[in-house]
Formats: sequence, C-alpha cells, structure tokens
Amino acid sequence: MNRKSGPHFTAVDLGPLSQLEQYTYQHPLLPRATDGKVFLNQLLGLTSSEISVNKLPPRTSMPFYHTHRVNEEIYLFVKGEGEFQIDGKVFPIQEGTVIRVAPDGERCWRNTSDTDSLYYIVIQACAGSYDGHTVEDGVGVQKRVSWVGKEPA
Ligand code: ZN
Repeated sequence: MNRKSGPHFTAVDLGPLSQLEQYTYQHPLLPRATDGKVFLNQLLGLTSSEISVNKLPPRTSMPFYHTHRVNEEIYLFVKGEGEFQIDGKVFPIQEGTVIRVAPDGERCWRNTSDTDSLYYIVIQACAGSYDGHTVEDGVGVQKRVSWVGKEPA
C-alpha cells in the first residue's frame, strides 16, 4: 500500500475499490473474517472519527443486526444497489444514498444485485460531538497557490 505522510497529513492509496477484498477484517466477536472491509483509523491516524471503506458481494446480507454504544454512523453508498433496514423499517439503497443511524438504531443491510458488488463508506463519530463549525472553522492562508512541491507517485 502506498503511504505518504508529513507533519500535518497522512495519505494512503487503497487501490481500486473493485479489489477491496484484498483487505480482510477480523471482528473479535465473529468466527469468520470479513473480506472487503478496511478501517482507516489506524492507517491514517484519525483522531476524530472511524471510517471504513467496504465492498459487499452480490446477493449478500450482513449476517447480524448491530447497534452502537456512543457512535452515530453515516453510510454513504457509492455504487451498487440493495436494501437497508433500521428498527425493522426496510428501504432501498443505491448509488448516492446517504443514511445517518443513531447509536441505538438496529441496523442491517444487503446487496440485492445478482451481479454487482455494493460499495459504501461508513463514518463513525461520537453522537452529539459535532459543534457546528464548518465554514467558520476554515482559515484562509495568505499564500499564492503553487504546484511545484510534487511528491513522487
Ligand atoms: Zn457499526
């Protein structure tokens, strides 16, 4: 994996999303490892959230419901189609669907396509921790834009 870092950044190339099954995650409470799931927290040294990039094969469902203790989750579906359910309410998902789930929401999702994988990104952050600074948090740097400090690929 190509990784770059400096005092104020870390960058990784995960590779093509179509080859995401090269990443395997072993949940401590599950008997089998999950292919196609990579958490970015450790890779990037995140300090504010956990983010995972995921690929779910055709005709596959998550095998369990789960909730969270303190984190809300945001699911961004970037490719494919399927169904999501929260507290027994089922609805379709597709490219462009974004879902926020409160910690207590009992959630599950599945890929309903016969042929295509479902790609999605999940962001976890502590519910209630966002203090509303978005535009106000940005600070313009008084410097002309230049692209000469190019890193090798
Ligand atoms: Zn979760």
